[in-house]
Amino acid sequence: MKKTYLQTTGRCLCGEVVYKIDGFATYQLTCYCRDCQYLSGGAPNTSFTIQDREFAILTGQLKEYSRPTDSGSKVTRYFCGNCGTLVYGKSSRWKTDVSIRVGCLDEPSVFSSQMNVWVSSAQPWHKIDTSKPTYDKGPI
Ligand SMILES: [Zn+2]
Ligand SMILES: [Zn+2]
Repeated sequence: MKKTYLQTTGRCLCGEVVYKIDGFATYQLTCYCRDCQYLSGGAPNTSFTIQDREFAILTGQLKEYSRPTDSGSKVTRYFCGNCGTLVYGKSSRWKTDVSIRVGCLDEPSVFSSQMNVWVSSAQPWHKIDTSKPTYDKGPI
């Protein structure tokens, strides 16, 4: 898996939550699962993984929402308590990983999707770039 070094910041839509990243982004992915469709407004969601020690919230209050997944683990998603922007998620299965949502980066253009996951839940009108590794469910 290609790693991209990121030293950058991000924030929610209203600007109350600000975070910084200093580390290697792995698992740059596009997820078509139904949960992501709810959270994105219907499109797939784009995210990448970094280690939690490479990520720090600088300002703002986050709310969290946890939900079990089909694989039996639990995913907790963290939102701005004011504007509702989804900032990141954590899985009970990979405890030191933080999954950052690309849309709240100050420079989302640094993202480069490396795989498609959960395409079994994709909608007919989603455009899937099948030149990338593509998985019916999760990659692992
Ligand atoms: Zn906000
Ligand atoms: Zn998803």
